[in-house]
Amino acid sequence: MPELPEVETFKRYLDNTSLHQRITTVEVRDAYVLKRVSARELVRRLKGRRFENSHRHGKHLLVRAGNELWLRLHFGMTGSLEYLNQHQEMPKTGRVIFCFANNRRLAFDDQRKFGEIELIEDVDEFVETRSLGPDALEISFSQFKAIMQKHRGAVKAILLNQRLIVGIGNLYADEILFRARMHPGTEAARLRDIDLTRLFRATRYVLEKAIALKTDFNRLPKSWLLLHRGKRGRCPRCGRALKSATIGGRTSWFCEHCQKRNAEPSERLAHSKPLRQSGAKTHRTSAADVLHHRPKTADNFLQSAGDLA
Ligand SMILES: [Zn+2]
Repeated sequence: MPELPEVETFKRYLDNTSLHQRITTVEVRDAYVLKRVSARELVRRLKGRRFENSHRHGKHLLVRAGNELWLRLHFGMTGSLEYLNQHQEMPKTGRVIFCFANNRRLAFDDQRKFGEIELIEDVDEFVETRSLGPDALEISFSQFKAIMQKHRGAVKAILLNQRLIVGIGNLYADEILFRARMHPGTEAARLRDIDLTRLFRATRYVLEKAIALKTDFNRLPKSWLLLHRGKRGRCPRCGRALKSATIGGRTSWFCEHCQKRNAEPSERLAHSKPLRQSGAKTHRTSAADVLHHRPKTADNFLQSAGDLA
């Protein structure tokens, strides 16, 4: 579940606790988490080094441990970091533990085992080979606008597409669209400049606000959708029942009254037959993909494993 704001919060936590200390060893308790590196290799390459600084790209946290040596952490569905002194008990699901010369330890905790740890040499090369888009907090308005105008599909599917913009997952995409008062199934290519500006601002606001509150759901404003989404949830703005629909393969929660599709009246009447030509080369998730209400029984705060890029 960790999305951009959670990973940024982990980055700040790591920066505040674990930099500049000599790594005495690394304990690998569960090797599933290691990608393209063995436990022995991980220990050999990190031992004696220090974490110098860190960088976040979308949901990936990259920690520099020397020239051409970066530790990549991806938190999967349930990953987190915990910095412990020698008296504190290690969490049962601490999978990899970085031990420092001052007897403190940094644990990569991961209950559901979708997390990833890897060593990489070059951050730019990693971003390129994974075809990751620009980070949602670093993207400029003109880049954002170009992405929305170039790609056909529902605006929510584009926000979630990690090849176009990285860092936004299902929960925050719904929150951003709620704040922008935009229906998640709105065709992105039809958004006017004024809509794009509203959406861009909402993206920045939601992500930055969540980071400022350290993604503590108890502290999020009551006016946010996040606290109300789910069956029997009501719109915090107008009080009407929230709706759900599957868009881009994910369950969206929204308020039909507050979030409009933004189509012209004539288009609304004909919206079952889009005006554009069929057979477009680009993949699109159109309004037609918005199925009628199909609430998932699973906890709305959980993401499916296939969407963690
Ligand atoms: Zn409403």
